[in-house]
Amino acid sequence: MAEYVIETPKGKWEVVCGLEIHCQIISKSKIYSGASTEFGADPNEHVSFVDAGMPGMLPTLNEECVHQAVKTGIGLRAKINKYSNFARKNYFYADLPQGYQITQFAYPIVGEGEVLIDLADGSEKSIGIERMHIEQDAGKSIHDIDPKKSFIDLNRAGVGLMEIVTKPDFRAPEEAGAFLKKLRSILRYLGTCNGNMDEGSMRCDASISVRPLGSSKLRARAEVKNVNSVKFVMQAIESEAKRQVALYEAGETMPQQTRHFDPSTGGTKFLRLKEFSDDYRYFPEPDLAPLMLSDEYIQSVKDEIPELPDEKKERFVKEMGLTPYDAIVICENKETAAFFEKAAAGHDAKKVANWLMGDFFAMLNEKKLELKDSPVSAENLGRLVELVSQNVINGKTAKDVFAIMAETGENPEKIVEEKGLKQVTDTSAIEAVIDEVLASAPENVAAYKGGKQGLFGWFVGQVMKASKGKANPVIVNQMLKDKLG
Ligand code: MN
Repeated sequence: MAEYVIETPKGKWEVVCGLEIHCQIISKSKIYSGASTEFGADPNEHVSFVDAGMPGMLPTLNEECVHQAVKTGIGLRAKINKYSNFARKNYFYADLPQGYQITQFAYPIVGEGEVLIDLADGSEKSIGIERMHIEQDAGKSIHDIDPKKSFIDLNRAGVGLMEIVTKPDFRAPEEAGAFLKKLRSILRYLGTCNGNMDEGSMRCDASISVRPLGSSKLRARAEVKNVNSVKFVMQAIESEAKRQVALYEAGETMPQQTRHFDPSTGGTKFLRLKEFSDDYRYFPEPDLAPLMLSDEYIQSVKDEIPELPDEKKERFVKEMGLTPYDAIVICENKETAAFFEKAAAGHDAKKVANWLMGDFFAMLNEKKLELKDSPVSAENLGRLVELVSQNVINGKTAKDVFAIMAETGENPEKIVEEKGLKQVTDTSAIEAVIDEVLASAPENVAAYKGGKQGLFGWFVGQVMKASKGKANPVIVNQMLKDKLG
């Protein structure tokens, strides 16, 4: 658990936070119509009569969206409800032409579940999932084209969303950040949402309250809407919690309310008093039948679920000898994990992980490259590690070889061969170099023998230098010890 206490001269306070995340479903068409979900089209290019809210149009549930939601529910280790139904949530927005949103209310498709988060101190924490339901997105109002007019783009209207609601289990900004990263990782592994918060594919609302440390009573919360990055969610929790503490300590109260996060100040601003669910006049959607899922169907979706980050992490630790930290970093991204497995196949996995997280990531960063565009292939990285394991080259030379691989994309054997970098393990050749070094520095030899043990490193350095870095350092150390007696 992350330790996070707000301490003032007047007392100690604890944060209580829950998240609601709207995740855009990856599907070719919208959730209740056949219009395309393709991103980047001209405004209003992908709008059916259903999406435009034309009178008398009938929605049809897109099976692919259901499939994606069930997959996601399984990934959240959640109960899949065999019975769920749809509801109308009534409200007016210019970009919601129906005047209501078709969502799920009393009977969501996914029930309680759990997500494990990894914290900076190496601990894990379980965050409860309250529910997940599916619903349609609204369109987009555009206010920045004309000073006097607003425009409506309905391309997004009707795109499928999964709304994931957590339990109020977060006690620190760090925990919310770790959760969003883990959720994004799970969704990407599943292929059910691309998780891009900056593009609005994943939008987060945070419900935040505070209470005196040790108290178990919940106080009124503020809901901070549509925060669009992990960092901003963490900032919003921190600044909003501190704001509430200051209010309470000044003897004021706080009504339940909706707020907006302002990235330019890092603080939150009042939007409106919170509406309650009664205000929406929910009622069962008359145009869609309840959704019934069979055990066979749920099982068939379970059978498609790939290995997810938690299981992969455990396997990398247990079977490949990685530290939990290495495994967490490597497994966060499906592509990185696949690259690692390919590179490690048949080689020393721990050493491959060290290379991957060290020189390899540093190289990608420096060249501003994505993993898929890496000049060093997974196979070649594995072969480089193997050359060191087999004592063909030493660790120092391997770094030079890697630098050439990053420039040329060549395989390491070829570079070692062409540049004549093979490590010298021939003891007679090394002995000759050592004898030369010792003969050229008799005063240092005498000093060492006279007790200046610190000179040993100097001898090693001289021998390595004379061999142009190619002598096997283990052999050099051993032979020098023998010779200097
Ligand atoms: Mn919603």
